[in-house]
Amino acid sequence: VPGEPLDLRPDCARCFGLCCVVPAFATSSDFAFDKHAGEPCPHLRDDFGCAIHAQLRQRGFPGCAVYDCFGAGQHVAQGTFGGRDWRREPAIAQPMFEAFTVMRQLHELLWHLAEALRLRRAQPVHEELRAALGQTERLTDLDAAALAALDLDAHRRAVNALLRRASELVRDRAGHRVADHRGADLVGARLRGADLRAADLAGAELIRADLRGADLRLADLTGADLRGADLRAADLTTSLFLTQSQVDSARGDATTRLPPRRTAPRHWPGARLRR
Ligand code: SF4
Repeated sequence: VPGEPLDLRPDCARCFGLCCVVPAFATSSDFAFDKHAGEPCPHLRDDFGCAIHAQLRQRGFPGCAVYDCFGAGQHVAQGTFGGRDWRREPAIAQPMFEAFTVMRQLHELLWHLAEALRLRRAQPVHEELRAALGQTERLTDLDAAALAALDLDAHRRAVNALLRRASELVRDRAGHRVADHRGADLVGARLRGADLRAADLAGAELIRADLRGADLRLADLTGADLRGADLRAADLTTSLFLTQSQVDSARGDATTRLPPRRTAPRHWPGARLRR
């Protein structure tokens, strides 16, 4: 993408295990125990690797297996804090953890802006998208104190409104009757074979929904919760704003049709292993 800014893929080798320390966990199907925010996970090794990395799902941590920091971890570790490590310098732990929380949200916005810039039908707002991308990228250069003082909500609201306009431009031109399920509670919903082309499913709760064979082309899936959703034979080839993490959290197999740049996770039966 022209102007695509930073590397938005995690590089755990250049991070200090920030995602294994900063977020809180609650015992659930995603995590096998509770953990407070800012408390290092007991599985985090001294070298910041995960002691159970190869068995995360089997050991009850699928939430870790699908987590994506969008590259915020290495940015904070190597950029904001210049390679200093919170274990050797406990005084920087708190500001580093706070910076990670903000940085992850900024990187997530950058990812969505870069995705929107790939949408040809969103051309009328491409200039605004590029401006927002540049502005967001500049925010990621702030030092830890400035990141902590940032009015992130205001920035997020402005960017999200722009992303929504981009989504509407694409979906309005799709020529289908468009379903509005924005933020809907569709937990466990029976949507097998449903025509959800160009539907607004942003923020929808689709946990364990039956989406087998559903047509999700051009559907906006921004932030939709797809944990355990059954995507076998579903068509997501042109779904909007579908992250790899969302794909990884769902069920699928070789019949699931994914958009370019999204790959079938290793735990899907019969999936082509492209990662
Ligand atoms: S289980 Fe592993 S990946 Fe998950 S938080 Fe703990 S150390 Fe990190």
